[in-house]
Amino acid sequence: MLIEIQELEQHPIDFREEFSPGVIDLGEDVRQRTPLQSEGRADLVEEHHGKHQVVRDIRLKGKLETSLEVPCARCLDPVVLAVKRNFDLLYRPLGTDAGHEELSVTDAEAEIGYYQGEGLLLEDTLREQVLLSVPLKTVCREDCKGLCPHCGKNLNEGACSCADEVEDPRWAALKEIRGKLE
Ligand SMILES: [Zn+2]
Ligand SMILES: [Zn+2]
Repeated sequence: MLIEIQELEQHPIDFREEFSPGVIDLGEDVRQRTPLQSEGRADLVEEHHGKHQVVRDIRLKGKLETSLEVPCARCLDPVVLAVKRNFDLLYRPLGTDAGHEELSVTDAEAEIGYYQGEGLLLEDTLREQVLLSVPLKTVCREDCKGLCPHCGKNLNEGACSCADEVEDPRWAALKEIRGKLE
C-alpha cells in the first residue's frame, strides 16, 4: 500500500491492512507464520525551512502484530516468536537533510526515515519494524546445548560419540613417541 503525499495533502490516511506470509520479504532466516495485521494513521507534517521552503514529512503511527519463526542461534531448530509492536515514525523526503547529517543523528531524531518520490510504501516500514523486533540471538531454550561442532548432531537429543574420538593431535604425537620408547 502506497501512502501518497498527494492524498495526505487532502486528509490523513487511516489504514488497516493484512499481509499474508510471503507478501513482505523478511529475508532467509525469518519466516512469517500467520498473517501480519497492521493498523494506524499517516499524517502530513509540514516543516517550514526559512520563508519559502516547506518540507512535507510523513508521520506514520500505528501497530503491527504477527507470529514469526526464526532458527535457534545454537541448534537451528525453529523458534516461534510472537511479535507485537507500536511505532511512531517520521519520514522526510530523501535529500532533505543533505549536508546536514549532524542534525539528524541526535536521539530525538533517531526514528527518522526517508521516503522517495510520491510517497511511502507501508510494506517497507512493516518489514523494517518486524525485523527490528527479532532479537539478535534467539535460543530455543536457555540451556540449549546446540550442535556438535564435529558431527553436527543436535546435542539436545542426546550426546554424540565425538568427544571420545576427537583427540588433540599433540597427544597423538606424544603417544607415538611413547610407543617408540617402549
Ligand atoms: Zn536450540
Ligand atoms: Zn559429534
